[in-house]
Amino acid sequence: TRLALREPTLWRQQALIAGRWCDADAAGTCAVHDPADGLRLGSVPDMGAAETRCAIDAADAAFPAWAGKTAKQRAQVLRRIHDLMLAHQEDLARLLTAEQGKPLAEARAEIAYSAGYFEWFGEQAKRMDGEVIPGHVPGVRLLALRQPVGVVAAITPWNFPSAMLGRKVAAALAAGCTVVCKPAVQTPFSALALGVLAERAGLPAGVLNIVTGADAAAIGAEMTSNPKVRKLSFTGSTAVGRRLMAQCADGLKRLSLELGGNAPFIVFDDADLDAAVAGAIASKFRNSGQTCVCANRLLVQDGVYDAFAEKLVAAVQALRVGPGLTGETDQGPLIDAKALEKVEAHVADALAHGARVATGGHRHALGGTFYAPTVLLDATPQMRLAHEETFGPVAPLFRFKTEAEAIALANATEYGLAGYFYTRDNARAWRVAEALECGMVGLNTGLISTEVAPFGGIKQSGFGREGSQHGLEDYSHIKYVCIGGL
Ligand code: ADP
Repeated sequence: TRLALREPTLWRQQALIAGRWCDADAAGTCAVHDPADGLRLGSVPDMGAAETRCAIDAADAAFPAWAGKTAKQRAQVLRRIHDLMLAHQEDLARLLTAEQGKPLAEARAEIAYSAGYFEWFGEQAKRMDGEVIPGHVPGVRLLALRQPVGVVAAITPWNFPSAMLGRKVAAALAAGCTVVCKPAVQTPFSALALGVLAERAGLPAGVLNIVTGADAAAIGAEMTSNPKVRKLSFTGSTAVGRRLMAQCADGLKRLSLELGGNAPFIVFDDADLDAAVAGAIASKFRNSGQTCVCANRLLVQDGVYDAFAEKLVAAVQALRVGPGLTGETDQGPLIDAKALEKVEAHVADALAHGARVATGGHRHALGGTFYAPTVLLDATPQMRLAHEETFGPVAPLFRFKTEAEAIALANATEYGLAGYFYTRDNARAWRVAEALECGMVGLNTGLISTEVAPFGGIKQSGFGREGSQHGLEDYSHIKYVCIGGL
């Protein structure tokens, strides 16, 4: 097949429940397509509420033994998952590119990034320290223990099918939780490959369950209503995140929500323009603009607007567009027709409101869901792309005059995930970093993601932090023990 895997067993078309690989039943299958040409890659079982309930039961049954292992034992399994992912990096990258569309080089990087979470959280598992607090009255000591929250449900999107799952699963497993996850229906194979490797790494049956299906609402309804699930971790759109939070209210489930973004990317007059262009290309055009931390609005100061635009256009025109599996490319297709339509609608709306096309502005000659890398000039807050996540390869340039104006523009969004800015002024660096209303800031860089740093948002971009020493907090609770009679 087009996948040409060295290890074909990594490609599974079955779901994983209670340590068993499950075929489709009467409900049938969901087809998975390669977004580069629309061809069918394969299929996965179309599961719903009943299968989700079985998976939750399995995770619940597996929980005491997994939580009861020493941190070192859990860390050893996580370490093996990391090592296996790197040993199979090329195959995993090919699977990822086939189902998701990103260039192979980006897919390889995602696999390494995803594996990094298993390494990091395996190490962190050993640092789930508690506290001993001096007594408040004679003869007592007070303890604070950290314990795993229990069964975790994880719902992940299609844009980073390996990394978005890895960062949740690794943290949950490290803390001693068991997991039921639902990958996006467009990209289930990366998740299932992770299931194969987890099994090989010695992860006990039922500790990681993977439910596939097209009816996300049915699977999500079971996850949010089942009392055995103690926590939901979700990465996806703000609309779905809100809905899931409401569904979790009755059961008072713990939540981590990593939702949409609308990142500003500010270029000040005193910026290193070449560095800013490189950062803008990395931040805006990676994964064809389909990342939640993508620069969505490029705010450029008056004095360098024209020079920056010229350099950016040259860099954008040099991007190589094409299918990720064949040849060296910088930009792949969009995930599906709906995504393409949204990008087209945003560009049409911008043009209707006075924007000018500097390059691109139309579908790519390759057809399908390929869209030409685009730079728009004279963008204004009246345009849809100022308020909504475009999720495509479109860089709109807004013009501003003062620092205060830039900050106001940057924060004029309901979202608060990432923000970027370029300056060589040290005092301004501090001022702007502190003034941006977002969970993550890139100063003189367009790439911020790493497992060792806390990833997450504020405002309508959600809450909770993934990665870093804080990442385990989302999967553990504190139990206070008061010891008397001393
Ligand atoms: P995107 O625009 O990235 O597809 P979504 O929020 O729609 O964002 O999807 C992210 C994940 O949430 C996917 O796995 C999707 O299947 C899932 N999802 C979508 N709707 C629901 C829902 N009502 N309940 C639970 N999960 C959902």
